[in-house]
Amino acid sequence: MKLTVLGNNGPFPGPGGACSGYLFESGDTHIALDFGNGVLANLQKRIDISDIDFVICSHLHADHISDLFVLLYALQMMNRQMTLYAPPEPALELQKLDLNDIYQINKIHEELQIKINGLTISFKELNHPFMDFGTKITDGETTFLYTGDTCYTPNLLEFATGVDVMLCDGAFLEDIVSDKHLSVKEACEVANEAGIKTLILTHLAPFEKPETYLEKGKKHFKGNLLVTEIGKTFDLKDLAKP
Ligand SMILES: [Zn+2]
Ligand SMILES: [Zn+2]
Repeated sequence: MKLTVLGNNGPFPGPGGACSGYLFESGDTHIALDFGNGVLANLQKRIDISDIDFVICSHLHADHISDLFVLLYALQMMNRQMTLYAPPEPALELQKLDLNDIYQINKIHEELQIKINGLTISFKELNHPFMDFGTKITDGETTFLYTGDTCYTPNLLEFATGVDVMLCDGAFLEDIVSDKHLSVKEACEVANEAGIKTLILTHLAPFEKPETYLEKGKKHFKGNLLVTEIGKTFDLKDLAKP
């Protein structure tokens, strides 16, 4: 199980940057988690567009889905369709992706389970101004969780408990409590309580240095702390070791 960072800024990219997008790989399975601006170009440095099995969108904010509107052109030229999992709300935002039957849209809900090549994928609603679902992927040995964008919610702690590696929104360096994102301190506290082995902080502000997130997080997280970097591939099996 591997995770490659295709974009990690939010809510807009810094110079040469890209917004949220990650490639999860296990054997021949390739799943794109979010598809923000800049992600399509970075994805093709690692795999072909035709290798993507499906795309999961945590939520429908533009910094997480905007490259789906140009992926559409590529799919049209390739005469292909793409399976897309996305939250049902806001319905008007989801409708914008319902174009020419290119995307086969499946609405995410908490009872949904996707099974593919020995992987089980499940979802939990978290808390963000747009409906956001955390995505959990397990092969029965190693469990990975991507939060999308969320502020603190007991749902996150519940969903994260038993997870090995968490890719987590830690947008705010300041120790603030908001209804939009977690602060680094909050992300670390949830990860500590949930017993996460490796916490990977993401949704980094375009005007901040990634090292600043590490320095801040190290004051709070007891486990292995990492930060996203575009192009970097994490070996999730390695990061799940105690
Ligand atoms: Zn975002
Ligand atoms: Zn958002």
